[in-house]
Amino acid sequence: MSPPEALSGPCAECNARCCRNYTITITARDLLRLIDYTESFGWIGTASAKGFDPALAHSFTLFENNKPGKFVLCLKRDRKETCVFLGKGNRCAVYAARPMVCRTYPFRKDEGSRLVYKKNYRCPVQWKITSTLRREFLKNLERQKKELAEYGRWCGEWNASVTEGRDLASFIDFMISKAKAGSS
Ligand code: SF4
Ligand code: SF4
Repeated sequence: MSPPEALSGPCAECNARCCRNYTITITARDLLRLIDYTESFGWIGTASAKGFDPALAHSFTLFENNKPGKFVLCLKRDRKETCVFLGKGNRCAVYAARPMVCRTYPFRKDEGSRLVYKKNYRCPVQWKITSTLRREFLKNLERQKKELAEYGRWCGEWNASVTEGRDLASFIDFMISKAKAGSS
């Protein structure tokens, strides 16, 4: 999900499959970066938290019809289930501000700080990991880990204090204020 801006290297071979096959979950920092970049809110979506890995997508409580439910924050998808930001020529319309999951896909870091990657049907190409690529992905994976941990804490604070009637707009305001305070 990192490269659709230029669709160079392995990404040129696969037609941005990752942008078409995942629900892209975001954190408070992603939210703030994307709002600043797009100056809009219409792309913000939610999905039921069921089925998401809690280590990668923290959940929060919202009330729907007076009943609490657990949700994750994500980018909206279009009718073809494609990320709302995927544009013509498979270019990412928000490349400079894309979420951290897009910057780190398809890699994760093992306990020895090695990049781990498993070829799969969603990312079907064989990556050649150069030292530049390794540095870049490791840096982003570290940043993602910090931003996820912080977002998890803020979701915990929200969940501990949420009351009936507090909707998605309230949650977004809460997270923006947390991310702005955390940036200063
Ligand atoms: S699926 Fe893999 S190769 Fe294709 S655009 Fe995404 S990261 Fe690149
Ligand atoms: S934000 Fe950009 S890189 Fe991420 S899934 Fe959407 S189009 Fe792809």
